[in-house]
Amino acid sequence: MTTLDDLPLRAELVGQQPYGAPQLHVPIELNVNENTFGLPSEAVRDIQESVAGVVAGLNRYPDREFTALREALAGYLGHGVTPEQVWAANGSNEVLQQVLQAFGGPGRSLLSFVPTYSMYPLLAAGTQTAWLPIDRQADFTLTPDAVAAAIREHRPDLVFICRPNNPTGTGAALDVIEAAYAATDGIVVVDEAYQEFSGSDAVSALTLLPGRPRLAISRTMSKAFAYAGARVGYLAADPAFVDALRLVRLPYHLSALTQAAAEAALRHAPAMLANVDRIRAQRDRIERRVAELGFTPYPSASNFVLIGGVADPKDTFTRLLAEGIIVRDNGIPHTLRVTAGTESETSAFLAAFERIATPVTAG
Ligand code: PMP
Repeated sequence: MTTLDDLPLRAELVGQQPYGAPQLHVPIELNVNENTFGLPSEAVRDIQESVAGVVAGLNRYPDREFTALREALAGYLGHGVTPEQVWAANGSNEVLQQVLQAFGGPGRSLLSFVPTYSMYPLLAAGTQTAWLPIDRQADFTLTPDAVAAAIREHRPDLVFICRPNNPTGTGAALDVIEAAYAATDGIVVVDEAYQEFSGSDAVSALTLLPGRPRLAISRTMSKAFAYAGARVGYLAADPAFVDALRLVRLPYHLSALTQAAAEAALRHAPAMLANVDRIRAQRDRIERRVAELGFTPYPSASNFVLIGGVADPKDTFTRLLAEGIIVRDNGIPHTLRVTAGTESETSAFLAAFERIATPVTAG
């Protein structure tokens, strides 16, 4: 039987693992930071009608420039962002890949602060961009000085800063982004996949765009917007930055179905986002409760909590799964990550976690 080892794979992919969050269907799925609330019914109806409305025209290619969608995304983002500054693709993973295709590649490097989103090294490998992981501080926070120093030392072509950071939930003040930008002549991408969970008073890095043509802010409809299945990610940057992405995107990469579905969802943005505050309340509840139980949650600005001080994460993961609850083991010692779901999902998780997990100190 042929195995991967028998095939002439590109050298930098040898030994790599594919992105592999287990896709198990169990009663309580809190492992990939989705919004576990369903879509609001008024949006569902409009999305269904909008998608149905383009089906008869699928013999033609879609609008390659997805003009209407870019207008809608610019309107959603606010901050004076214009449609020319917006780009979208099939999930922000694809957006980030396009950034690396345009600005990374052989002889170039991507620096980021780890632990962080596990796709960054995979996207780097896939585009033959060297991966430069720099450790965060012990509590996973970033400081402007440390960030600038690492960038000056390693002189990367690209810097990705995940804010709030996955899988730790850690926020970062805007001065961290300003320091990163000032320390490099390269590209700085702020991955704000979870920004809407940071609270309405949290300032987006979108405010830093004017006068910074090498800066891009990446967003997604997969998380707060409850639209992971639609596969729509996007970014805002200088129009010239967007022109660079046009050089690498595949023609017509956003299908007419995707465009119609995304435009319809954006027409219902307030309803699509209606559960963000509830999710934040459950996140805070998880932090409070696991701390009472003797664990050490990392402060989260996102829709998940990285719980530290777990004596045996692998065993805890397996036993939660046996009870129909899936969380995430990101391989950070003594931690498990759990997505904040509905109130009842959170209650079920907390009850099971209390029974199953043991804090390190009690060991
Ligand atoms: N960035 C971060 C930090 C993420 O956690 C994720 C998804 N887990 C993504 C980007 C990609 O999301 P999507 O492709 O669904 O937009």
